[in-house]
Amino acid sequence: MKIWDSHMHSSFSGDSESSPLEMITRAKELHLPGITFTDHLDLDYYENPGEFDLDIPKYIEEISELAKKYSDESFQIQCGLELGLQEHLVDKHHELLETYHFQEVIGSIHQVKKEDPYYPAYLKKRTIKSAYRDYFEEVLNNIKAFHEFDTLGHLDYVKRYIIQNAGPEYDYIMSDYQDVIDEILKCLIRYDIALEINTGSIRYGFLDTNPNSEILKRYMELGGQMVSIGADAHKPEHIACGFEAIPSMLKNAGFISYTVFKERKPIEIPL
Ligand SMILES: [Zn+2]
Ligand SMILES: [Zn+2]
Repeated sequence: MKIWDSHMHSSFSGDSESSPLEMITRAKELHLPGITFTDHLDLDYYENPGEFDLDIPKYIEEISELAKKYSDESFQIQCGLELGLQEHLVDKHHELLETYHFQEVIGSIHQVKKEDPYYPAYLKKRTIKSAYRDYFEEVLNNIKAFHEFDTLGHLDYVKRYIIQNAGPEYDYIMSDYQDVIDEILKCLIRYDIALEINTGSIRYGFLDTNPNSEILKRYMELGGQMVSIGADAHKPEHIACGFEAIPSMLKNAGFISYTVFKERKPIEIPL
């Protein structure tokens, strides 16, 4: 089956050079039912100020024009946002989402106490265990402080950088962080936020999605029902990467559908 790709970037993001039209062309070639652009907005990005700013009016205008031109009954294009969450930005984010209209808003944690775990410096100050725990706690604190978004982006993706910077033996064991992971999952359920299964890790050679199937199963056990799927493409060739394994992964965890957001409302698509 072909899955809607609900997480992708274009040259509107500071870390992508691909035009939205290139992304659309590739998604059409793949016969996906639809795509949602979710370009980055990370206000107060301390590592490199301004890198993840977004010209929102221009972004919405351009994607909307392309959506009018290239959407049809078998292929739809939507304009969403990947919002980098930080606790001190709660009021700004609230105002922003009141002002601008997106189809889907992904909330992602890209900074832990003003540091991006992408950079090796994050690990230099921490043990491996605190590198994981600090990240998960940052996710939890952010959801508690602000939950006006639709999907939690790539929970556990910090492991990508920990493994890249420290070595493959430093994958985490869920039970070591069960308390905080359970609380995160319960918050998602309480606030009607979908859990994203992000396959971006697959193209880096990882076997697991972010989060992995263990967390997905735990989410289901706790009563979670909404799973959004995204490849986090930054180039056309990344679109839908790793999607082949997703239907069986979801079915094994007990899901019979996945979620796509339209007009910020969840739509269930049968598997
Ligand atoms: Zn992200
Ligand atoms: Zn992303």
